[in-house]
Order: sequence, then C-alpha cells, then structure tokens
Amino acid sequence: MLFEASELLINVFVVVAGLFIGSFLNVVIYRVPRDESIAFPGSHCPKCGGAIRFYENIPVLSYLALRGKCHHCKTSIPFRYPVVELLTGLLFLALKIRFGFSYWLFLKDFPFAAILVAVTFIDLDHRIIPDRLSLGGLVWGLALSFFDPSITVIQSFSGAIAGFAFFYAIAWYYEWRTGKMGLGGGDIKLIAMIGAFIGPLGVLTTIFISSIVGSVFGIVLAVRQKSRPSSLEGEVPEGLMKYSLPYGPFLVLGGLYYHLLGEILWHPFMNLM
Ligand SMILES: [Zn+2]
Repeated sequence: MLFEASELLINVFVVVAGLFIGSFLNVVIYRVPRDESIAFPGSHCPKCGGAIRFYENIPVLSYLALRGKCHHCKTSIPFRYPVVELLTGLLFLALKIRFGFSYWLFLKDFPFAAILVAVTFIDLDHRIIPDRLSLGGLVWGLALSFFDPSITVIQSFSGAIAGFAFFYAIAWYYEWRTGKMGLGGGDIKLIAMIGAFIGPLGVLTTIFISSIVGSVFGIVLAVRQKSRPSSLEGEVPEGLMKYSLPYGPFLVLGGLYYHLLGEILWHPFMNLM
C-alpha cells in the first residue's frame, strides 16, 4: 500500500515536471526559430507585449483560468499551448513507466523527448529544424553514451553515422535525379541525433516507420486536396501543408515509437532468426 502510494506520487511528479517543461518548450518553439533568447525577456504576449505573470504561466490551468485569452489585450492564446504541455506531460509519464524512475530519465530520456517535441512543432510552423536542437542533441546523445549502461558508445556513434549516411545518400540521389531538394539538411541532422540516442537498429526502425506513416499521410492529403480544390485554403491546418509535407514530425514519431515500444516490433523478427 505504501509502495503504491509513493509510486503514484512519483507519477504525479513526473507528469507535473512534463507540464512545466512543455510550457518551456512553447517558449522554445516560438523563440528559437526567430533567433531570440529563450531566457530574456520574460514571458510576454506576442501581440501586445504585456507581461505574463508567474501565476498566469501555470501549465494548462492558466490557459483554462484565462479562458484562452491574453489578460491584457484579450488576444486568443493558441490552443496548441496547453496541447504541447499535456503532450510533454504524457510523454514523460510513458518514459517513466517504460524505463523506471532513475536519474537517467532526467539526463537522457526527458531531454531527448523534449527536443523531439520542440522539433516537431518548429518544423510544422517554419519548415526548419534548428541546429541548436538537432546538433545540440546529437552532441548530448553521443556524450551520454560513454556513461549510459543501456547503450554502448559504438551503438550510439554507429546509429548517428548510419542515420546521417543513409539520409545524405537519399538526398544526394534525389537531387541528382530530379534537380530538386527532397530531404532538407535539417532532416539529416535530426536522424543523426535520433541515431545517437537509440542506435543503428533504432535508426532503421525510425526510417521504416516514418516513411510508411509519411506516405500514408501524404496520400490522404493529396486525395483530399484533389477532391476539394476550392476550399483548400481554409481547410488545411496552419503550417501543415503548402507545397510539401515536413518530414521531421514523422521522424520524431518513428524515433519515439522505437524508444518506447521498439522491442515489441523487433522481437518477432529476432526470434525468427
Ligand atoms: Zn496581449
């Protein structure tokens, strides 16, 4: 009974930590692609510049209390803010359940997930993946592998190199054949970073999952686009599709899938061999 109660407390703590990190990620998502400092100035409304006080900055609750509007100018706060907070909270809980509660969560799994959440929404908004996140994460992932008992240094480095080489080759081939840029440099650095955290098998799974989900998504959007050409403008979620799909979010999906559940996919194959 005592054990269960303390386990519940830890879970609550992990979710709350995730909510606050998610709130910080909203700042990262807004400011990093604009090359603004993530520390200064303090939180403010992007519309009227009004300061957001600390009690107006409590994840999810403040959004509900303010009814989704700026306290000063009543501009709507995007619904995405509490969504990013909740998403991060749930991801942190899933990671804790998967890996157990240890300091490695805070050193490795939480930063990895946080970077991936930020990358997803920045890529959706701006079609870029900032080097500060992808290369920063790459260096962090490689450095951790020297101490992390769950991955070897060779796995980490070969994961990063395999991801980089595979995507670089595809990008080069595509450009050579079509004269157009397919994969962006940001995607190449992102897959290298993911590889540093989850190794070569993880990279393989990530590429596999992301290409399948990405293709399905692309086909669905293309069909919808064809069937309703006139109403397209208002139909498509902001930043999601103008000319092509951003690939980063699909890589994130694949990477998180492997990190949380990967063994479930690979075990049947491994047993066969
Ligand atoms: Zn305002």
